[in-house]
Amino acid sequence: MGLLIVGSVALDTVETPFGRAEEVLGGAATYASLAASLFAPVRVVAVVGEDFPEAHVGLLRAAGVDMAGLQRAAGRTFRWAGRYDFDLNTAYTLDTQLNVFADFRPQLPEAYRDTPYVFLANIDPELQLSVLEQLRTPRLVALDSMNYWIETKREALQRVIARADLLLLNEAEVRQLCGTYSLVRAAREVLAMGPRALAIKKGEHGAVLCTPEWSFFVPGYPLESVKDPTGAGDSFAGGLMGYLARSGDTEPYNLKRGVVHGSVLASFAVEDFSVERLRALSTADIEQRYQEFRALTQF
Ligand code: AMP
Repeated sequence: MGLLIVGSVALDTVETPFGRAEEVLGGAATYASLAASLFAPVRVVAVVGEDFPEAHVGLLRAAGVDMAGLQRAAGRTFRWAGRYDFDLNTAYTLDTQLNVFADFRPQLPEAYRDTPYVFLANIDPELQLSVLEQLRTPRLVALDSMNYWIETKREALQRVIARADLLLLNEAEVRQLCGTYSLVRAAREVLAMGPRALAIKKGEHGAVLCTPEWSFFVPGYPLESVKDPTGAGDSFAGGLMGYLARSGDTEPYNLKRGVVHGSVLASFAVEDFSVERLRALSTADIEQRYQEFRALTQF
């Protein structure tokens, strides 16, 4: 089954203690769609400017991503610059240039309106709501957001959270949204807002999937070398949603497998800058690491 992804396609400049990459392919929708395309047919709705290299569009197309929903607008592409210290869990934003993203109004091509699986990556919650208005009967909607929208558009964010099936946030965002340190209490509050499940991303420490009835923990993969954590959360979302879209099964045991696949994809994404590792991945690589996760968590 198909997966629709709406979010940023960007040119990123990233500095980590292990190197620097300038004006490379990035954006939440980019990472999520490359990760998901390893499992299921993916279609993207996003905007880029006149300066966006055609080779990047070609890279996504070569991965099988349907780019019919990519708008090319007059102006410059969205740019993000960030830095990480040795604690790779925290990104310090150095610069955000919205450029064509400032006027982005997601328009779903007619053929996309029936897509059953949907990932609304981190954009203005009002735009996320406008995407939901254009969809007919989605089967599962996953939603991401960030501290900026929690601070500035809480009311719209709460409206879109109420309509999502699965909310994905990192632990700092969950605490900020609920104004509490306890993730147990915060998860209960978030689930009372409407979603069936909440995935709390904990960087190198893995992730927790919470539902009203049960919770499930997946560790981070013990990597020997991490170069650039940018896009880990979006690759997690792409792996999880791609896996669910492929299997068409949202029963608890399969949600758990989806979360493990999310962690597998995130662990690959951080091994290199930009999408270098994701673009080179094979299904055999994924299966092997999935089995390693299985061995790591079995007792
Ligand atoms: P992550 O590391 O998974 O949180 O996501 C990093 C990606 O999000 C980068 O490739 C950025 O281009 C993109 N990004 C950063 N800030 C924003 C923003 N305000 N809106 C949308 N995308 C963003």
